[in-house]
Amino acid sequence: MAKRAQKAGKRAVGPAKSRTGRAPRPGNSKKSGGAATSPGEELDPALAARLVRDLVVWFDRERRALPWRADRNPYRVWISEAMLQQTRVETVIPYYLRFLARFPTVEALAAAEVEDVLALWSGLGYYRRARTLHATARELVELHGGRFPRERERVLELSGIGPYTAGAVLSIAYGLPEALVDGNVARVFARLFVLDGDPASKEFQARTWELARALVAHAKRPGDWNQALMELGALVCTPREPACERCPVRDACGALAARRVHELPRAKARPATLDVALVVLAARSGGALVLEQRPDGGRMAGLWQLPTIELGARGHLAPLDWPDGASVVLAEPVGELAHSITRHRIRATVRRGEVRGRALPPAWRRVAREELAGVALTGLTRKALVAPFFRAVWERG
Ligand code: SF4
Repeated sequence: MAKRAQKAGKRAVGPAKSRTGRAPRPGNSKKSGGAATSPGEELDPALAARLVRDLVVWFDRERRALPWRADRNPYRVWISEAMLQQTRVETVIPYYLRFLARFPTVEALAAAEVEDVLALWSGLGYYRRARTLHATARELVELHGGRFPRERERVLELSGIGPYTAGAVLSIAYGLPEALVDGNVARVFARLFVLDGDPASKEFQARTWELARALVAHAKRPGDWNQALMELGALVCTPREPACERCPVRDACGALAARRVHELPRAKARPATLDVALVVLAARSGGALVLEQRPDGGRMAGLWQLPTIELGARGHLAPLDWPDGASVVLAEPVGELAHSITRHRIRATVRRGEVRGRALPPAWRRVAREELAGVALTGLTRKALVAPFFRAVWERG
């Protein structure tokens, strides 16, 4: 690789030099040492091999025993990767176990109703993932006999599977030298290789993928290498307080040598938060609760919630705000909830009320209390149902 770099007129990037052989200490080098790289630069093969070796040795010692690491079944790897996107490991574990108990194979998932998949996903957020998972399971059964393809191109043809998931399944389940980059990997690379760019930029993302491909080519166990990188980002090279003193690759870390650990990666511009005020209807009808289904195509499409009105600039409700066919008489507020979804900061006032007449608007239905556990509810409605104040709704009707 070094030869190829010279031929192409590129500088091969080498490891940080340390005369003492110890980890580079902040301030002990005039230049920023470490493994700083620029787009197109090739990694020194010796550095790449050493990084991979040291990190996999560390992973073998420090890896967390997570349920999806019990075997390398591609279906299980795929489900865990889908659940872990934007979601913490501790949150995912119970969902993963319940999901696998109910849908142990891709055939079982493909044969399920999407409503049942959403119900099991309820509370995990980013519900499009559940719909996509279900649709992809059907494609896998119809087009590939339920087997996850081994060719990257075939995997990427599946709806809802992007380069990250393809890299994860192919490397972890099949041991193929396929790269992946997630938020953890991007952060580790930004520090290790001193990537100054905006993490949201195409250039930054292209460079992280380029580095990931170059490194995975040196791994004897590509799946473990990819997991080791992510594990390093999750346990050691964390966003705010990286534990550089116990980092297995600190000798090669450009940001540590340059005293720039806390500068990298550059902070992303945060979108402004939006305040949203909602009125949520808690209406009993016999032993049932009235719920409404969210419309197709928007956020949390198809999930069920307590009937909800957004107040908007007006700040108060008008009778016409309820959908056609709903005859609602609102009573007193029973409680307030705070909830956040992406950049929306929600304040919801839950009010008791009565829905008159047997007929309901098309998107509304009555759900018996004992059936609620099987319904795909929004996070806010789940929060309301377990709030202490909601007991009054059940007790007083
Ligand atoms: S933990 Fe510290 S030394 Fe290790 S890669 Fe991250 S910034 Fe570098």
